[in-house]
Amino acid sequence: MKQKRFILPESEIPTRWYNIQAEMKNKPMPMLHPGTKQPLKAEDLFPIFCEECSRQEVNTTDAWIDIPEEVREKYAYYRCTPLVRAYGLEKALDTPAHIYFKNESVSPVGSHKLNSALAQAYYCKQEGITNITTETGAGQWGAALSYAARVFGIECAVYQVKISYEQKPYRRSIMQVFGAQVTPSPSMSTRAGKDILTANPTCQGSLGTAISEAVELAQMTPNCKYTLGSVLNHVSLHQTVIGLEAEKQMAMAGEYPDVVIACFGGGSNFSGIAFPFMRHKILEGKNTRFIAAEPASCPKLTQGKFEYDFGDEAGYTPLLPMFTLGHKFQPALIHAGGLRYHGAGVIVSQLLKDGLMEAVDIEQLETFAAGCLFAKAEGIIPAPESCHAIAATIREAQKCKESGEEKVILFNLSGHGLVDMSAYDQYLAGALV
Ligand SMILES: *Cc1c(COP(=O)(O)O)cnc(C)c1O
Repeated sequence: MKQKRFILPESEIPTRWYNIQAEMKNKPMPMLHPGTKQPLKAEDLFPIFCEECSRQEVNTTDAWIDIPEEVREKYAYYRCTPLVRAYGLEKALDTPAHIYFKNESVSPVGSHKLNSALAQAYYCKQEGITNITTETGAGQWGAALSYAARVFGIECAVYQVKISYEQKPYRRSIMQVFGAQVTPSPSMSTRAGKDILTANPTCQGSLGTAISEAVELAQMTPNCKYTLGSVLNHVSLHQTVIGLEAEKQMAMAGEYPDVVIACFGGGSNFSGIAFPFMRHKILEGKNTRFIAAEPASCPKLTQGKFEYDFGDEAGYTPLLPMFTLGHKFQPALIHAGGLRYHGAGVIVSQLLKDGLMEAVDIEQLETFAAGCLFAKAEGIIPAPESCHAIAATIREAQKCKESGEEKVILFNLSGHGLVDMSAYDQYLAGALV
């Protein structure tokens, strides 16, 4: 029988995260303080983020950062996640390519987001923080943080983008089951929300707006910190457990990827699967390709500008040197809510600028077709976000069919879509454009 799943024991959960910043030839440009326009120091972030995450954010010197034992213990609830050879998909595509996926959908909340949520909640608890806030789009980050807050015994308040709050009621329920307080954004509970609703009473919200609200709440509430589920360097850092495990699992399979693919919202799951492999490209000149798959309706990597921009709509965050569509950009209401963000992470932006990775943009219909094909072939219903990675994988596998090349393709299955069935319903009914 051909081996399909490559499983590592708990003892193989990584003990350190990989900080690619330390080994990049061109370091990312510094983030700037929004007031003084001076390069940001860790202390500048302390009013918003917990101190350890702030230090990790600006750490460009340590390539390896220890994972606290308490976080590894919680990772053991679902890690190591399986690496799977997608024989079913290969057969359906009749491709000579060898396709593998790392299955992050097995986490308790159904996505990779828990890898960073657990770390952030742990550090907050350590530092005596009692409350954390955040924003969420489709609800995956909110669900992950709500659960992580519960695990470490702190209170969690989530601003959920209004359109998703209405379209995805079950993710709201999940957050509420874990004990979080969930508010649709824009709301009247913050100045940022009020300003936006006054200008546009029917505003359906965006991640940028929800971030402004969550940051404002954190600044107004004592002993409260803000957390972010993507974009920032420390989030990408925490996600590298994905690629570090995958590296060992690919070795178990006796292969090394020619192409590594992930969907792209702010860049955390892409960074997570890609950076440990990109390390070998930087240090040893391996010629692996790295492809970020973004929605055609929110194409910051393929069509954005590289410039300093705010991370949120209201302009409260530091200025980030990144590929961006502009912080006022309001993305179309696609179902992949987790990909509706105007900017890209600072590290990934530099890597794209330096030609170490590529990006493709994909239309919504193509992504759902890919998701349905994958579900039939592999038995897992992928998250609408993950469907972008699958669609990009299928494009590469089809190129292999045309050329007869037996390339090894690895993609990250960032989450399952069992709470997104209304999106699949609309796709099957032909109601999506
Ligand atoms: C949030 C999310 C994404 C997009 O975020 P990244 O930070 O770019 O990884 C992708 N897939 C799933 C399942 C998500 O929940």
